[in-house]
Amino acid sequence: MKQKYTPAADIHETSNWYELSPGGMVCEPGTALLTKTGAWRTSTPVFIEEKCKQCLLCVPVCPDCAIHAKDGKRGNFDLDYCKGCGICAKYCPFGAIEMRGGKECPYMKGFRAMRP
Ligand code: SF4
Ligand code: SF4
Repeated sequence: MKQKYTPAADIHETSNWYELSPGGMVCEPGTALLTKTGAWRTSTPVFIEEKCKQCLLCVPVCPDCAIHAKDGKRGNFDLDYCKGCGICAKYCPFGAIEMRGGKECPYMKGFRAMRP
């Protein structure tokens, strides 16, 4: 018997539990843009532009494609989708990315204010 699932686009904060797919599964591809994973980030990468050599190593290692590159240069982080895993900071050979968390991080203030 084929398992029923709810399309990811139909799942939102007011969905009832019985409207969700079993186990919270997302069963179709290409849905990452629907979920702003940055909302549950607990630490945040900070780009130190003066140390960056534009080697672009950080771009492909980000599991959420939260570092965009254009014309051979990386931009800042897309914090709507960065989940704070720190992989980019580990890979950067020039120390141009620092992970910060809590009150130390200026980006976190908005997200903290939104939480209950
Ligand atoms: S912390 Fe993780 S999710 Fe955020 S930009 Fe770096 S690699 Fe991507
Ligand atoms: S890995 Fe580091 S030096 Fe290379 S582009 Fe990314 S931030 Fe810049």
